[in-house]
Amino acid sequence: MRIVRDVAAVRAAVASSGRVGLVPTMGAFHEGHLSLIRAARASCDLVVVWLFVNPTQFNEAADLVAYPRDEDRDARLAEACGADILFAPAVEAVYPPGFATTVTVSGVADVLEGALRPGHFAGVATVVAKMLNMVRPDIAFFGAKDAQQVAVVRRLVADLDIPTRIEVLPIVREEDGLAMSSRNVRLDPHERRRATALHRGLVAAQSAVAAGERDPGLLARAVADVLADAGIEAEYVAVVDPDSFLPVETLDRPTLIALAARVGSTRLIDNIEVAP
Ligand code: AMP
Repeated sequence: MRIVRDVAAVRAAVASSGRVGLVPTMGAFHEGHLSLIRAARASCDLVVVWLFVNPTQFNEAADLVAYPRDEDRDARLAEACGADILFAPAVEAVYPPGFATTVTVSGVADVLEGALRPGHFAGVATVVAKMLNMVRPDIAFFGAKDAQQVAVVRRLVADLDIPTRIEVLPIVREEDGLAMSSRNVRLDPHERRRATALHRGLVAAQSAVAAGERDPGLLARAVADVLADAGIEAEYVAVVDPDSFLPVETLDRPTLIALAARVGSTRLIDNIEVAP
């Protein structure tokens, strides 16, 4: 595996390489990231892992400062999963002096995470547009963990005619159900136990759907009740269409239940798909 830092090097590497797969990440790899790299390896001729802690998508300065970084470890793990190239540009290579363009997606990027984290999706959309232009992959692999990000990226790729297929892989969880996240390391042992309520709440709602419940309000309440038992108040529990992220009125098609909550000072997100 090669580590490259600049666009010219990555473009040279991907030239005439057959099918190119790109795995966008901010590093601090866990099994969620590795599942994406393995999926790319299984279906592509050349696997590029993008490692860039994108400052413009952090709406809290403290979150950016505290974000875990360990490029050597990430490089070893990416290589073990079959990556060919680790593309890890410096901030100045992505945002050189004079950089003045922002990509904003409306609608799906305005609600939930978009409303609570001002500027977040503009940062995501801009860096994803740049990254897809730099690498020009045939397929880009994303995790269902960041479901709204997936919807924003799909919108962006369709609207800007970017010729990359977006592939989405399931959420990888710890044994007790907690969705893997680079931010989980910030949970102390007590918070770590309480954090299992996020997935338990989503599963409770899924069971309610299986038992015939179709009322989004009652499903959101079922999630919130499990969170409350663990002393967690959600920032939102939303029952939404997976493409538009608009609330559904009744559960008559595949629907996403998405939530965000702080456990201690750590902000976590999770979601589950439910179908009538
Ligand atoms: P991040 O490094 O957090 O920006 O995540 C990079 C990619 O990994 C994104 O597409 C995430 O959705 C995905 N990802 C993060 N956590 C998980 C997880 N637990 N399961 C599956 N994919 C994940």
